[in-house]
Amino acid sequence: MSNSTSSPVNQNNNSSLSHEQIRNFVAADNCLAGKVILVTGAGAGIGRVAALTYARFGATVLLLGRTLSKLEAVYDEIETMGAQQPAILPMDLEKASYDEMQKLERLIDSEFGQLDGILNNAAILGNLTPLEMYDVDTFAKVMHINCTATFMLTQALLPLLKDAKNGSIVFTSSSVGTHPRAFWGAYALSKQAIEGMSDIFTQETKNTTNLRFNCINPGGTRTNMRAHAFPGESPMSLKTPEDIMGGYIALMSDESIGVRGQVVALQPKD
Ligand code: NAP
Repeated sequence: MSNSTSSPVNQNNNSSLSHEQIRNFVAADNCLAGKVILVTGAGAGIGRVAALTYARFGATVLLLGRTLSKLEAVYDEIETMGAQQPAILPMDLEKASYDEMQKLERLIDSEFGQLDGILNNAAILGNLTPLEMYDVDTFAKVMHINCTATFMLTQALLPLLKDAKNGSIVFTSSSVGTHPRAFWGAYALSKQAIEGMSDIFTQETKNTTNLRFNCINPGGTRTNMRAHAFPGESPMSLKTPEDIMGGYIALMSDESIGVRGQVVALQPKD
């Protein structure tokens, strides 16, 4: 797997953009027009800003998350900006069954007739503690939300994604997923698995579909999760989700057709 943060993307895949170009991507107005994009964890943090951004650039955004009031607030913001009408898909990834996810696929098909992209963004941090003392129930919960449910949802939505002209599946990793670090426990392991999942999906589909699977690593970003992980850090020293949106648009837009199996670090010095 090519997970270098600085090397150009694999030329064998006819990649259209290098990592540097993805990081510094300047989006053209309406570059996501006509696309239907699902964002998980769309009610807060990076997912919220990605949903607003995708809508601003013309996509119809499907807002998936577990806290309805937060999703409604994002819905209202999108309506106020006069973008394509979004949809709210309440789903707790900890509890949702595979059957519910397949029903969601049928619902999206009947209501929208297409699905062009998923930003698999929802995750929890769990505990920052040595593995020796890691609470096993928390371990299972983190692995389920961050990894297993992400796999289940992606697999359940694949039939629709395969029908898309150029479907894009973006997973969210982390620096501790690329390079595991002491005390990051289940979170780091779940992100390592996400990078592997993206790689395996890429290998299994690259010769038979137009689908592309990639990981994005946002790097330290001003959100609740980051504040929880680094309570002593000044949030003002961090980039905001808005600052890093170029990469998120790039991987969803047709400019990144041919970019496959990459782990793109948006702040590679993190
Ligand atoms: P965040 O502010 O904590 O937001 C996480 C989002 O995921 C929230 O909308 C949350 O919903 C949702 N979520 C959590 N559990 C869920 C569940 N069971 N079902 C459905 N939705 C659920 O985190 P963030 O910082 O924006 O992180 C976004 C992604 O970037 C994550 O994958 C994270 O691992 C990754 N990341 C972040 C940083 C960083 O510095 N911020 C760095 C590297 C990677 P509620 O609001 O309803 O709880």
